Amino acid sequence: MATSRPNIVQEQVQLASKTWFETGGPARFFAEPKTTTELIEIVAWAHSNGIPFCMLGKGANVLVSDRGFDGLVIHPKINTITTTPQDASAVQVTAGAGVEIDNFIAYCLDHNILGFEEFSAIPGTIGGAVFINIHYFAASLSDFLVSATLLETTTGALLTVEKDWFQFGYDYSQLHNSNFIVVDATFKLTQGNALDGAFARGRSVEISRHRKQRYPYKGTCGSFFKNFSPDQVTQTSNGRKAIWVAYYLDKLGIKGELCVGGACISHQHANMVVNKGDATSNDIVQLARLMQQKMHAAFGLIPEPECQFIGFDEYPLLRSR
Ligand SMILES: Cc1cc2nc3c(=O)[nH]c(=O)nc-3n(C[C@H](O)[C@H](O)[C@H](O)COP(=O)(O)OP(=O)(O)OC[C@H]3O[C@@H](n4cnc5c(N)ncnc54)[C@H](O)[C@@H]3O)c2cc1C
Repeated sequence: MATSRPNIVQEQVQLASKTWFETGGPARFFAEPKTTTELIEIVAWAHSNGIPFCMLGKGANVLVSDRGFDGLVIHPKINTITTTPQDASAVQVTAGAGVEIDNFIAYCLDHNILGFEEFSAIPGTIGGAVFINIHYFAASLSDFLVSATLLETTTGALLTVEKDWFQFGYDYSQLHNSNFIVVDATFKLTQGNALDGAFARGRSVEISRHRKQRYPYKGTCGSFFKNFSPDQVTQTSNGRKAIWVAYYLDKLGIKGELCVGGACISHQHANMVVNKGDATSNDIVQLARLMQQKMHAAFGLIPEPECQFIGFDEYPLLRSR
């Protein structure tokens, strides 16, 4: 049965300022639920009225089409953090889907809780981080996740699932192919003392400094394409399978050179596309396709995007198979 529109649902909200690429058109409907009850209410409203919807965290890994999204964009603001001590050296921390990764790390460091500082300066929310299983060098979110509360969006049922449910992989969780959205997530982290906390804080500062100095930070979604799996490639570099997309793009000599409209390949990283200021989402799509075409022509490889697409009628890039 169709239900009436909840008060928190706004109409025609521009999304460009809500994504890291700073491109894209408006959402027909937009809502920022602050509680699980509000989230359930707006999902039920969308479902009962046949309105498509999608989740948007900090918009750090999405590209919104220039036409926008003809449905409901849900930007969760469920921002609670609670801790449950396990023993002298372990603690479980539960964070709402809307908690920003850096705020979660700041909370942990304030309480000498260690582990998540490995993800310092990765822009995003807990919901978006679980969706893609964020990673930085050897650390992956799945190293820490214990369980999560999910909302089944067709029935409105809340359920708690254990880590195995997610079938985590590289840039992957089962959320990619499901009707479930993240309400909160619980992580098992190390409880340190004040000295441990000080070391972790130093590491966090150093990781942030290194990332921001080395890679572009604004107008990008981070790595645009996923790296390959070893079985997809034959080339080796330093005795190891060359799985890195940037390795091939670097060889093409297009880093910092290739642009479409206002979208360019960063001069700092060949697998990072940046909005120079006036890019459209279509510029970014056309540039990404060109990168795929050039890689295919030179190496027979077509990389797949890590970046998620919102509001496109058709998948806008080349498919690898
Ligand atoms: C400068 C820069 C550097 C980056 N570096 C890294 C890095 O080192 N490692 C790394 O792993 N990533 C990196 N990224 C990518 C990005 O930070 C992560 O993918 C992050 O998890 C995105 O979170 P978000 O909240 O912004 O998600 P969004 O970009 O808003 O959404 C991404 C996907 O998650 C889904 N989603 C969001 N919230 C929920 C929810 N509650 N339930 C279900 N699905 C949801 C969305 O629908 C969408 O499909 C980088 C990005 C940038 C811009």
